[in-house]
Amino acid sequence: EPDPTLRPEALPEDHDRALRPQMLGDFVGQAEARANLRIFIQSARQRGEAMDHTLFHGPPGLGKTTLAQIMARELGVGFRMTSGPVLAKAGDLAAILTNLEARDVLFIDEIHRLSPVVEEVLYPALEDFELDLVIGEGPAARTVRIELQPFTLVGATTRLGLLTTPLRDRFGIPTRLEFYTVEELHMIVTRNAEKLGVQAESDGALEIARRARGTPRIAGRLLRRVVDFAVVEGGGHLTRKLADNALTRLGVDELGLDGADRRYLRLIAENYGGGPVGIETISAALSESRDALEEVIEPFLLQQGLIQRTPRGRMLAQKGWTHLGLAVPRALGQ
Ligand code: ADP
Repeated sequence: EPDPTLRPEALPEDHDRALRPQMLGDFVGQAEARANLRIFIQSARQRGEAMDHTLFHGPPGLGKTTLAQIMARELGVGFRMTSGPVLAKAGDLAAILTNLEARDVLFIDEIHRLSPVVEEVLYPALEDFELDLVIGEGPAARTVRIELQPFTLVGATTRLGLLTTPLRDRFGIPTRLEFYTVEELHMIVTRNAEKLGVQAESDGALEIARRARGTPRIAGRLLRRVVDFAVVEGGGHLTRKLADNALTRLGVDELGLDGADRRYLRLIAENYGGGPVGIETISAALSESRDALEEVIEPFLLQQGLIQRTPRGRMLAQKGWTHLGLAVPRALGQ
């Protein structure tokens, strides 16, 4: 059975904080986003203005929250954090907005899950730094306008497609985060091992990087588990062999896929002849929510070319068959 704590969306851990890069210069990878942010941050600082609203989108665990915190630190302003599902009523958002100081960063995670009422309140706040609040009810109701301090909204979403167009249009800096390369993750694992005070051989760190599904959060989790094995069974030395052994015992294969990923692939291969099969069908068969499949499992399988999305459903690609050790159907072979 896969270890559920290895899933990237599992609980936000506080102990992750020790490993979080603090400044833009410590942040590895996302070179394009980083270079652009550096300019926008510096410009905002020099002009003494709030930085433009920024939207980070991409799969979980790639550094959206981390970059938002870094932005506040680099801008030298305060950081407030909330999330779409937490902001149930217009008043919840109003309370946060009216407490912001000039040029603060407000981070809203899962911004695609804001309720329409809250979103309505957000629009004038983003555009004109004003709040229109309705006070009272019925015939006595009236609207009061409240001036806000200029602030920077940083939104994060794993599902860009679920954002309403008006909300999307209000972000001056939309930024897509990509999966990390093995080299980038190698550097991240090496630094994290140092921070944890562990002796990791370069090959040992590389093995973890290779199997971290392009995701720093997973790299951090795998490193901690491998370190446990190193401490108990490896005299504290993290070698390639030890990492390979530990990861295999954790159910993480050579590509970094875990039990849930392989179940997904096997379902399409064995029950649906390789597809196409609709996402709802897969969701029912695996008892996983459609959201979890689309946000967490599929992006990496797609990026690796193991599956394809077609208008008629998901299909196993040639590489998917090979990875499962199954013969590639003739229609897919070259
Ligand atoms: P997201 O908000 O996209 O889900 P987070 O910002 O919470 O992702 O990052 C998840 C974990 O990965 C954090 O522990 C963070 O320290 C680490 N992390 C993310 N990006 C990087 C990076 N570029 N370098 C080092 N660690 C990173």
